Amino acid sequence: MAQHIAIIGGGFAGLTAAYELGKQGYQTFLFERAPELGGLAGTFPIEGTRLERGYHHWFTSDTHIVAQMEELGLGDRVQWIESKTGWFENGKIWNMVTPLDVLRLGTIPFIDRLRLGMTVAYLTYLQSNKNNLAKYEKITAVQWWKKYGGRNAWDKVWSPLFRGKFGAEAENIPMEWHWYKIVLRIGSRRGMTKEALGYPRGSFQVLIDALEAAIKKQGGKIYLGATVQRVVVENGVACGLQFADDAASQAAQRELAGGESYARFDRIICTAPSFATLKIVSEFPADYIAKMKAAKYMAAVLLILKMKKPVSPIYWLNIADRTIPFVATIEHTNFISPDVYNGKRVMYVSNYLDPSSPYFQMSRDELFNAYLPHLQKINSNFSPDGVEEVWHFKEAAAQPIVPLNYSKQIPDYRTPLRNLYLANTTQIYPEDRGTNYSVRLGQIIAKLVDEDARNGDGWK
Ligand SMILES: Cc1cc2nc3c(=O)[nH]c(=O)nc-3n(C[C@H](O)[C@H](O)[C@H](O)COP(=O)(O)OP(=O)(O)OC[C@H]3O[C@@H](n4cnc5c(N)ncnc54)[C@H](O)[C@@H]3O)c2cc1C
Repeated sequence: MAQHIAIIGGGFAGLTAAYELGKQGYQTFLFERAPELGGLAGTFPIEGTRLERGYHHWFTSDTHIVAQMEELGLGDRVQWIESKTGWFENGKIWNMVTPLDVLRLGTIPFIDRLRLGMTVAYLTYLQSNKNNLAKYEKITAVQWWKKYGGRNAWDKVWSPLFRGKFGAEAENIPMEWHWYKIVLRIGSRRGMTKEALGYPRGSFQVLIDALEAAIKKQGGKIYLGATVQRVVVENGVACGLQFADDAASQAAQRELAGGESYARFDRIICTAPSFATLKIVSEFPADYIAKMKAAKYMAAVLLILKMKKPVSPIYWLNIADRTIPFVATIEHTNFISPDVYNGKRVMYVSNYLDPSSPYFQMSRDELFNAYLPHLQKINSNFSPDGVEEVWHFKEAAAQPIVPLNYSKQIPDYRTPLRNLYLANTTQIYPEDRGTNYSVRLGQIIAKLVDEDARNGDGWK
């Protein structure tokens, strides 16, 4: 009989693991606590179509997810579109796509711009010599930039962006993380002057739907609104799941556990964030818990505006002006045509912060009112009258923050508890987390589970 594999979490890592294991003939059971699949890449309805709750696109290096689209018959939906990145500082929008744009950035002296451009060019040149990169995880980005790119490159260019993305941790981020971020972004250029980003026609929902349909066709079972409350461990072996008290979770418990106190599974994959995993597994040894706590998380707060008119001509506008309490505006309809949204303009106002921040606690309307005067700094004609609808989303585990020398602290996929596997965004390194890497993670975990099931366990 096929082994029964439980998968906790219906984001791209969980969906991919279920799909890959189903292909190998395993009986899969996927549990998602939210009412819909997609996790951080989940979508909501807008103007007769769907849109991600957090802005999403692909770089040309995102080959795993594009290959998955093709495999599921969605290859013709992958669009590569030119996009425009900008910079807001000193009351002005600066273009930030080409090397010439860097030279024109009037917020730092010309000699510093030249040095910045050359340093970025050097970092991208290093791509051909990846072996040397390990040394970049021993030094923070702030130390590296001040030494090689100059103080202004850090203080005026990178520091506002790092503070925006990592808050109080901004000066602790390893240079290796930044190197990958720069290289992947520059790698998405077409020639020197254009940047091409990917987006699926019909939104990321088309891939979520296709994975769901494929898993069900394989005989896999998907339980929505089903929250796993505890991974049951007996004598160091993970053997089952117990579910939360709400109706949907209890329905799963009744169906799968029968009269027993928990539902039995041969193997269990957990794709929940580390802090959420630690709430449902109490038996991990201290050294593994320390690894799971090595990377912390930033939360994200998103306000999405449906408007009559655009705010700027830029898709991705980094806010370097730190008097403004958000980090970027992402004007989706400067990337995907407004025609897709019945001619409406759609813009995300994005913030990464600690969940204790007052901006994380604010309601939708409080946030809109707090941001309004700052949106008017970007475009003095911006008026609430032009805003037709506003959505507000919060994500607690939006972005892992990795410490120095993280390669030695990444939690293993095979946890110390036999038959329990971990697959979450803290294991994506040195790349920044993204849907492409969650697909890759799901594939890696499925392969590991298959190997263990066929060849005997990999646990010592
Ligand atoms: C604002 C923002 C912008 C982003 N932009 C991009 C982008 O442009 N391009 C890109 O590729 N990626 C982007 N990402 C990242 C991308 O969305 C994630 O890396 C990816 O979706 C993570 O997938 P995952 O399956 O690993 O984790 P998640 O999506 O976090 O999935 C984990 C799932 O586990 C579920 N879960 C947790 N605990 C339990 C439990 N006890 N029981 C049952 N279920 C549980 C959660 O509800 C969740 O659905 C962005 C993310 C954010 C927040």
